Parts: sequence; structure tokens; C-alpha cells
Amino acid sequence: MQRSMRIEDNAALDVAIAAGNQLGLPVVVFFSVIPNYPHANLRHYHFMAQGLRDVASEAAERGVGFVLRRHPDGSLERFLEEVNAAMLVGDENPCREPERWRRVLAKKLRIPYWTVDADVVVPSRVFGRTYFLLHHFRPHLKRELPKFLVKPENLKPERVWAPEKRIESYPEAEDITLGFTKLDRSVGPVDTFTGGARAARLRLAEFADRELARYEDKRNRPEVKGTSRLSPYLHFGNIAPVRIALEVNRAVEQGKARASASESYLNELIGWRELSVLFVRHNERYDSWECADPWARRTLEEHAGDLRPRRYSLSELEQGHTYDELWNAAQMEMVRDGWMHNYMRMYWAKKILEWAPNPATAFDWAVVLNDKYELDGRDPNGYAGIAWAIVGKHDRPWFDRPIFGTVRYMSGASTGRKFDSEKYVRQNEALFPL
Ligand SMILES: Cc1cc2nc3c(=O)[nH]c(=O)nc-3n(C[C@H](O)[C@H](O)[C@H](O)COP(=O)(O)OP(=O)(O)OC[C@H]3O[C@@H](n4cnc5c(N)ncnc54)[C@H](O)[C@@H]3O)c2cc1C
Repeated sequence: MQRSMRIEDNAALDVAIAAGNQLGLPVVVFFSVIPNYPHANLRHYHFMAQGLRDVASEAAERGVGFVLRRHPDGSLERFLEEVNAAMLVGDENPCREPERWRRVLAKKLRIPYWTVDADVVVPSRVFGRTYFLLHHFRPHLKRELPKFLVKPENLKPERVWAPEKRIESYPEAEDITLGFTKLDRSVGPVDTFTGGARAARLRLAEFADRELARYEDKRNRPEVKGTSRLSPYLHFGNIAPVRIALEVNRAVEQGKARASASESYLNELIGWRELSVLFVRHNERYDSWECADPWARRTLEEHAGDLRPRRYSLSELEQGHTYDELWNAAQMEMVRDGWMHNYMRMYWAKKILEWAPNPATAFDWAVVLNDKYELDGRDPNGYAGIAWAIVGKHDRPWFDRPIFGTVRYMSGASTGRKFDSEKYVRQNEALFPL
């Protein structure tokens, strides 16, 4: 288990149980905590640890084993030998490092190793390519959805995990970061989100039953928090997108929301999210400005020498020390809560393009801040979102203007008029006074 940190609705686990049942063997879930996961800090580890406690208890209920190990005792290969494994089933993550780990591991293993794309509705291999725009992707997605948007099997193992010898496992209630001296602890846990499958299911029920009906009206109003706020749970694999989509459809069938609300929501959850996964899977330079399409690169290069009337350093941005109080509020929401509203994320990244010395630096700074503070950071959605804002990825050219060229611009005045921005600013006061 790497990305899909859950027991319920886990397609990789279902495959492992189906294979175990065929082979007459039990299944054990193995999770190894490393001290240096790229760009992760205490905030992320804390959320992950909360989720691992649910994994442990739900694995026991399901009759599968759960073994948690930590660096330096976290070798998967050694564990496979220890339990004399017949085969290995893993989940997938299109980001560079985990993808590299899988390839290295696959070369070394002498037992079958299968992976399952368990955190999307339609496995990305079905498309095998990326798309320029969402409306190019939509018809392909629509064609595949009936096959994949189905209730997960949640198979029961025929043989319960009951090893004869003692298998060491780190107690999941203890601090999983103990002794990780190089871990960045400067970004602390947040009390806005509790990690884990249980919290994710509660939040989903609350959203589908009571808030989905108003999603269309409220989703672009950062001051009212009218979105599902499920992104941290999706990032850590605490909940399956299939489950969310099925629950949202159920709410519509039960008359709790109009069909248009679920369409609008699923356009984000499946449309934009899975387009982002395809982008990262098929673009090696997904986290740098070099992922830009030729039109965007050309226009940004043409405007590279434009005067930047305001310039800020990364540290000024990080502390929310700009002249723009709406932008500062968004930055503070992210620093304090580990989450920023989508509408503000778009504005936030576009302003970094305006204030950084050049587009390449703007892209890098946006990635650094997003990955550091967002609980849902270090995710294909984050790289695609930043690419959308800074290099017009999955967008079309707009009117030519300074700095941005034909990449879409968002002005503070018009952004701030679309919702109660004064209220939003009051909600997110400065954390680092000048
Ligand atoms: C500059 C920028 C940075 C972003 N960084 C991240 C990030 O690091 N991690 C992350 O998960 N999302 C990121 N997004 C996408 C989006 O802002 C968040 O997914 C969304 O705000 C999460 O809140 P929610 O769960 O309440 O969304 P909802 O509106 O309730 O949507 C439900 C789910 O759909 C998906 N979704 C929604 N909007 C988008 C989108 N524009 N692109 C792709 N998927 C989407 C998310 O998984 C989300 O949880 C970024 C967007 C931009 C413009």
C-alpha cells in the first residue's frame, strides 16, 4: 500500500484478495514509512498517521493483515521474504518518485508484481494519452464511465491472515516520525482536517446529504466554504473517488440535490481530476514551466522582458507580505488551515506569475508553497492547477497583455467583486505581522 491508504473500496486490495482466494492464501497489507518523502513535512506525516490508524482497525475487521514498518526497518523486499509471499499487488501514483520506486522494485522482484490504478474512476491506461482541453477529454471519459463507475467489490478473504510466527509491526498509535531528525517540523499539523477513512466518510455523508444541493451556487464563494473539502482525503487515498461519485449520484436519486449539482461536482471530481492525472502521467516535466504547450511558452517568452511593477521574494510571498490583502488572505488560509479554496488558488498562482522575476521562477515558487502547506499538495491536481494558472495548460489563449501574454489573466478587482471578499479577508488574518 502506497497511495491508496484505505481498506474499504480499494481496488488494489480487491485484486490482492481475489488472487489470494484463487491461490488459497491470506493477504497482508504492508506499509513502510520513510523519513524523507519528497517535500513532505510534519503536517503531512501527522495526517497520514491518523489515516493509518483506520487502516489498521479496518484491516482487522476485514480479515487481512496490516504490517507497519519504519525506516530503517522498512524494506519491502525483506518483508516479502519474511512472509514467503507468493505475489505482490500495489497501487499506482503517476508522480515521478513513486513511479520510479515501482520500476526499480519490479526489476528486483522474482515474484509476480501487479499494480492497480486505484485512485481514479477510469484507470489512466485506458486512455493511454493526455488531452489539450477538458472538452476533448470529456467524450472519451463519458464512453468509459459506465464500465468503471460501479460499486467496488470489497471482497472477503477466504483465508484470514493468522501468521504462525510473530511478524513485527510498529504500533500505529505511536509517533511514526520518532527519530526522523531531518523531517521538516516547521509546518505543523492543522486542526481543520482529521486524516483517515472514517473522517473522510463522515465528511462525504455530510456533503452529499446537506451541501451538494447548494454546490453550484456556493462553489465559487471562498468565504462560505461550499465545496466538499475532500481533497486531502483523496490525496492520501483515504477515500475512493468511485465511492464519492456513487454517493453523490445516490443523493440525487433520493431527491437531496438536483442532477445539475452532481454534474457540476463530478465535472471536477472526475473530469478535471482525471485530466490532471493524465497530464502528470504523460508529461515528465509536469512540475516545471517546461510543461508548457508551445503557444504558452512563446507568448510568455515574448513578455519575459516586460516591466514587473511589483516584485516580491519567495519569503515575502510565504509570509503574505504583499500589497494585495486578498492574496495575503489566501496565502494565510493555506498556511493556517492546510487548504485553500479553489477560486483563490487560481488567483493566488496567477499573481505569483505577475510578481516573480520570470515564469519559470513563478512556477517553481508556486510548487514550493503549494506542496509545503496544502494537505492535498504534492498531487497531480496541484501540478495541473499551477500549470493551468501559470502556463495556460488545459486552457486556451486569451487577449494579449503585459507579463501574461495570452495566458488568461485574473484581476484582483474583478475576482474580489464575485464574492464577499472583505469577509474572506477578515477570516484569514495575517499570521506574520510586518
Ligand atoms: C494553482 C492551483 C493549485 C492547486 N493545487 C491543488 C493541490 O495541490 N491538490 C489538489 O487536490 N487540488 C489542487 N488544485 C485543484 C483544486 O483547487 C482543489 O482540488 C480543490 O480546491 C479542493 O477542494 P474541494 O475538495 O473542496 O473541491 P470540490 O470543489 O469539492 O471538488 C471535489 C474534488 O474534485 C477535484 N477537483 C476540484 N477542482 C479541481 C481542479 N481544478 N483540478 C483538478 N481536480 C479538481 C478535487 O479532487 C476535489 O477534492 C489546485 C488548483 C489550482 C488552480
